[in-house]
This record gives sequence, C-alpha cells and structure tokens, in this order.
Amino acid sequence: MTASLFFAGSGDAFGSGGRLQTCMLVQGESFGDFLLDCGSTAMIGFRRFSLDPNAVKNVFITHLHGDHFGGLPFFILDAQLVSKREAPLRIFLPEGGAQTLETTMEVLFPGSFHSKKKFQIELLEMKPGEKYEADGVSVTPFPVLHGALKALALRFECGERILAYSGDTEWVEELVECAVGADLFVAEGYAYGKKIKFHLDIADVEENAGRIGAKNYLLTHLARNTLALSEEERLPYDAAYDGMRVGF
Ligand SMILES: [Zn+2]
Repeated sequence: MTASLFFAGSGDAFGSGGRLQTCMLVQGESFGDFLLDCGSTAMIGFRRFSLDPNAVKNVFITHLHGDHFGGLPFFILDAQLVSKREAPLRIFLPEGGAQTLETTMEVLFPGSFHSKKKFQIELLEMKPGEKYEADGVSVTPFPVLHGALKALALRFECGERILAYSGDTEWVEELVECAVGADLFVAEGYAYGKKIKFHLDIADVEENAGRIGAKNYLLTHLARNTLALSEEERLPYDAAYDGMRVGF
C-alpha cells in the first residue's frame, strides 16, 4: 500500500447515522501525513481511533463550514495543551480562512489564537488554479459551488498516486478536471436520485464517471436517507464509514 486514507469522520453536519463530521487522515511513504478537512468532531475521531495528532504536518480545508473546519480550534488547542506539539503546523484554507479561523478560535476559546505556542502555525489561503507543495504532496484547488462560500475541491499528487476530493458541492464541471484519472476519488454522496441545492447527487458522479475515469470511487458525507440506501447496498459505489482505511 503506497498511500492510504483513514476516515476519522465520514458524516454530514447533522450527525446522520451517529457519524463524526468530515475528517480524513492521509498517510504514505513518500509524503508527510496530512489531514483533509477537520470537522468539529475531529479530536473525538483522533482519540477514538488512537491517531497521533502530532504526526500531522499539513491540514487542507475545502470550505469554511463547521463540519469541515470547526475542529481546528480544538486541534490547535490540543496541540498546545495536551499533545505538546513542537513541530510546525501548516494549514491550507480557502480564501478568507485565516480571518475566519481567528474569529472562531476567539469565540470558542478567547485568547487562544494569539496565545504563545511551542510550535509555529502557518496559515495559507489557496487560490483556484494555483498549485501548492507541502512535504512531498502537491495540491491543486478547483472552485466548486456550495452556497455563498468560496468552496474548493482538491486534487492531490501524493508521490505517484492521485487523490481527489469533491468537498461539499453541487455538480460542477470542474469536478471532472479535479478527479480525472485519479487513483481514488472521494465524492460527497449526500443525495441519491434527487437534486439538493449545493450538494452532490451521486447520480451526477455516475453519469460523469466515463469522463472522470477514476480507478476507484468512494462516497462520504451521506445524508440520512442516502445512508439508509447504502445499508441496502443500492448505491453504485462503496460508502465510507468512521474508522475505514482505504489504500490508493
Ligand atoms: Zn459538510
């Protein structure tokens, strides 16, 4: 297994199916461990599955909704007070993310953003169309459509492996470019058989799979109704669950 992705959270914003919110840990031989989204329950996932937060070198955030970035204040505070982190932490955010993170931290734990820490935090805002490098990984963000936010889908080159992640979005053509030929395409699987504004309908992924041509598809962030379908094995692709590890 050259690279793997572990689901420390595979749920939506509403706790559907009792699942933790979006948080994926990606690991491999040729690049530094990174976190892909950090929902507000992220630290519960880390403890539940005995993951080491200090091993995370970089964090990539697709959009600034609480179930995708709300775990950062807890992650950073844990690093300072509990996990005693010393290594630098780099956090890649969509545009506006640095200010939003500061505001959120100061609301949840006043004084926590500016408090002295034994590790450096670097905040980087990603612009669509540019490519960023971080500890052996390169990432290209693509603009997607999820409300008024500047939401992103992300394409990672992890050594020779390609990982694509839709984030939360309704269908946009940029998803084809983001995921084309990927070894693994993790797609939002919120809805199936009906359109829900700003969310992906799995049928859209199916319809475009010929153009995307990913080697493997995996659904995450399933709504309650869609989860019920997956139990009956009527979904076209495998669905993620908390604690799932998949190689790519
Ligand atoms: Zn979400």
